Amino acid sequence: MTARQHSPDAIVVGSGPNGLAAAITLARAGRSVVVYEGRPTIGGGMRSAELTLPGFVHDVCATIAGTTVASPFFGSLDLTEHAGVTLVHPDAPLAHPLDDGRVALLERSVAVTAAGLGADGRAYRALFGPLVREADRIIPFVLGPILRLPAHPVAAARFGMPAIRSSEGLARSRFRDEPARALLAGLSAHSMVALGRPTTAAFGLVLGITAHAYGWPLVRGGTGRLADALAAELRSLGGTIVTEHEVTSLDELPRARAVLFDTTPRALVSIAGDRLGGGYRRRLAGYRYGPGAFKVDWALDGPIPWRSPAIARAGTVHLGGTLDEIVAAEDEVARGRHPERPFVLLVQASLFDSTRAPAGAHTGWAYCHVPNGSIVDMTDRIEAQVERFAPGFRRRILARATAGPAELEAANPNDVGGDINGGIADLRQLFTRPVARRDPYATPARGLYLCSASTPPGGGVHGMSGYHAARSALRREFGIRI
Ligand SMILES: Cc1cc2nc3c(=O)[nH]c(=O)nc-3n(C[C@H](O)[C@H](O)[C@H](O)COP(=O)(O)OP(=O)(O)OC[C@H]3O[C@@H](n4cnc5c(N)ncnc54)[C@H](O)[C@@H]3O)c2cc1C
Repeated sequence: MTARQHSPDAIVVGSGPNGLAAAITLARAGRSVVVYEGRPTIGGGMRSAELTLPGFVHDVCATIAGTTVASPFFGSLDLTEHAGVTLVHPDAPLAHPLDDGRVALLERSVAVTAAGLGADGRAYRALFGPLVREADRIIPFVLGPILRLPAHPVAAARFGMPAIRSSEGLARSRFRDEPARALLAGLSAHSMVALGRPTTAAFGLVLGITAHAYGWPLVRGGTGRLADALAAELRSLGGTIVTEHEVTSLDELPRARAVLFDTTPRALVSIAGDRLGGGYRRRLAGYRYGPGAFKVDWALDGPIPWRSPAIARAGTVHLGGTLDEIVAAEDEVARGRHPERPFVLLVQASLFDSTRAPAGAHTGWAYCHVPNGSIVDMTDRIEAQVERFAPGFRRRILARATAGPAELEAANPNDVGGDINGGIADLRQLFTRPVARRDPYATPARGLYLCSASTPPGGGVHGMSGYHAARSALRREFGIRI
């Protein structure tokens, strides 16, 4: 290490997308930065590995780069420059099959999607058409600290009015038939909040807008390539990354003007201790974590044998049946129970990226929601949901790898109890992560910042929490406005 790195301008704890985005933003402003990562590999939620059999590449956490391509931070990078990142766009972002054989297919085009939704086509166009047209105004607003005046108030209001509703309420009031209702419910269920709760519609709308406006691509070769690209960008700016150094106390860090934590509020409290002040610490202690995930990765000896061939056009498949069924499943999870028929999010990456599996073979990636800290094995229930829409699926399985909340948290301490969103994103915590403060990234302790998904805008591989936290640190600690 050089003398400068011994006492850098800034330190980032954690190398997830937000930690690396924060480090790059600081380095671009001419600050020297060192990133400490507790695990042997960098990337946090952006990692890929041969989890099942040799030659089968699985995304350990994030796989769909929808919020990535919508992110102004990622948009500022030439991802191909350093690590040869190639984004692969499936023919259609999303399919949602029903038992009666109908499939709601979310295509890039709103008009084509609407045409496939029968009686609800016009209502779908009326809801999504204007929002997708204004995506470049709405998405940057949504991917920032939400408690601020929007740069485009008309677009923000057009989004905000339906967004504050419950997903269930919006789906029932706007749509008459099952495919469109189920499609919106499935998009909204990414919130991991019961769909009768206010603001769950916001998730459905944001994800729908990103799918139409920017697509839901995969990273060729695995999401880990994104981490490599960010690391290469940081190193080209003079930044340093130290792996296998889990930070447990501020005392073990070199002196720096700013320390940014890509961690949970819980870890921040444990690491920074008294420096944070009693009131703020108590408020962070009240921060709430949401349901967990139970994940399965499969090595398959062929593509998933969908009953409806149209599903093979989609990268992501939502398996949960009707609106009523998805609402009931997510309600059960919110009440601490395990649904018999969970809502399953499935991605079939190898159909669109041949580097993921040996010739003729395929991968599958799926998870469902479970109560925080659950120890129930959901493998059978997840596979039953796939089998329901793809009879013969189980016969294709060569090997599987599973990870419940305990395994997810062991691999990444940010996934508290298996919560993959850095804290529940309900009405209260969606807007005020980690606590209600004008600048949610700054803490009351001089020089200490939180930059993880536990700050706005929340979960997803977008790097925007890190970018905004770095902006705050640059302004407050270095007098630099970007
Ligand atoms: C199973 C799963 C599926 C997902 N699917 C998607 C998807 O398809 N698309 C999408 O956009 N998002 C997805 N996500 C969510 C996404 O991965 C996260 O929201 C995102 O990675 C959060 O970024 P982050 O930088 O805040 O934290 P993380 O990515 O969690 O990174 C935090 C990093 O900090 C390190 N760290 C924590 N504490 C310390 C410490 N004390 N000292 C040193 N290092 C520390 C951790 O080891 C980790 O590397 C998924 C997540 C999971 C788990």
